[in-house]
Amino acid sequence: MNQNQLFRSTRWRLAGWYAGVMGLILGVSGFGVYEAIAHAHRVSADQELKSVAGMLHDSLEPTLRQPGRLETAAKRRLPNLCLMRDRTVDNQTQSTLGEFCTAERHTSPAHRLSAIHQGDYFIRFFDKSGQLIAQSGSPPQQLSTELIPENATEQSLLTLKDTSGLRYRHLVLALDTPTNQPWGYLQVGRSLADFDDYLASVRIMMLLGLPLAMLLVGVAAWWLAELAMRPIYQSYQQIQQFTADAAHELRTPLAAIRATVESVLRLACISEAESRETLQVIERQNYRLSQLVSDLLLLSRLDRKIQHNQWHLCCMQDLLNDIEEELAALAMTQQIKLTTDIQVDQPIQVLGDEEQLYRLIFNIVVNALHYTPAGGQVKVSLDCRDQWVLIHIQDTGIGIAPEHQKHIFDRFYRINSDRARVSGGSGLGLSIARAIAQAHQGTIQVHSESGKGSQFTIRLPKSV
Ligand code: ADP
Repeated sequence: MNQNQLFRSTRWRLAGWYAGVMGLILGVSGFGVYEAIAHAHRVSADQELKSVAGMLHDSLEPTLRQPGRLETAAKRRLPNLCLMRDRTVDNQTQSTLGEFCTAERHTSPAHRLSAIHQGDYFIRFFDKSGQLIAQSGSPPQQLSTELIPENATEQSLLTLKDTSGLRYRHLVLALDTPTNQPWGYLQVGRSLADFDDYLASVRIMMLLGLPLAMLLVGVAAWWLAELAMRPIYQSYQQIQQFTADAAHELRTPLAAIRATVESVLRLACISEAESRETLQVIERQNYRLSQLVSDLLLLSRLDRKIQHNQWHLCCMQDLLNDIEEELAALAMTQQIKLTTDIQVDQPIQVLGDEEQLYRLIFNIVVNALHYTPAGGQVKVSLDCRDQWVLIHIQDTGIGIAPEHQKHIFDRFYRINSDRARVSGGSGLGLSIARAIAQAHQGTIQVHSESGKGSQFTIRLPKSV
């Protein structure tokens, strides 16, 4: 296939399209999977953050008595709470942790939320004016009072980035005293570093995997293109072979006519006998040509699936008797015993084109007569099994070697072309027979042994 320019370029184009489309589908699916992973992580992180913040808010709020002041009960609930020592320092200074806060350590086994122990959580308390009161965990370097939204009770989740580029997700909730006085704000947040690291590794895996996947897609596309084009290439080769064979077959009688005419034209004068002989040669070759052309036309009509409106019920007994009658003279000349054995009493009918069915059986019986030496036998029998009509044509002829058996139904195939030419065969007889059988939803099988004879079995659907 690769030697043919047209097929090679088509294969490249087809493989290119396959690879392109599959690459696009892979890319889009990869992006979709990535987005789905990111979304699932985002949603679960947000849910966790909301529930932690909600629980903290609900457990701390009843302990608050005085606005801006954390009671001991509240401090006990939080691990490693760091209270701001100097409330006068500016926000910038406050954000450098540790130096200005006193760690509150409580040994009492108070209920603590496990999520905020995990290291990536942080909690901050602000008074009404937005001044930092206390914090726990490791908040980002740049969180400030400005981050507290005006309507903090709406529980809006926000994402922040600190100076080092780390992302944080946080939630600010308003705190009130039991007497409904505004106490301040509770800010609960978590670092998105682990989440971002995970997504980065997924991205790297996808980026590294994509070229590899594309390479595999390319190889698969090249192979698939070859697979898809193979039957087209085979039928292209068959057409080429058929055209060459047909041209060759047509050339032979044409060359014979031309040679005969040329040789006669070279003579100064021709006798009546010579002109008659020339005309006879021309007539013979012309007959051969018209036979060939009508065979080719029949084959092309059978290939195009002829309309079935000309079909009618054909009696197989009548067909076999007609064939026997027509070939009796030929059999006698060749000293071959031709017999017909009909093993059924009631008429056997097949729905089809009578002329074609006649041609189908005729071709095989004629072959049997041609390839059986004098003194041999050709037996045609008709049988019926289930829904099938079986016609066996058995001869005691030269037989067909196993290596030729699978080719004899090919167009223009002749085992011994010289002998076949003498017998007048062009190698189309069996291909026409098979095409007719197939057009009638039937089959032809051959069993043969070199030197012993052959048996052809035609199987046609019986009409009920
Ligand atoms: P042809 O017109 O040459 O007979 P066919 O298509 O009818 O072409 O047959 C193809 C070839 O199969 C023949 O050339 C012949 O060699 C072989 N063949 C067909 N029928 C028989 C048979 N009954 N016995 C032996 N050889 C046969």
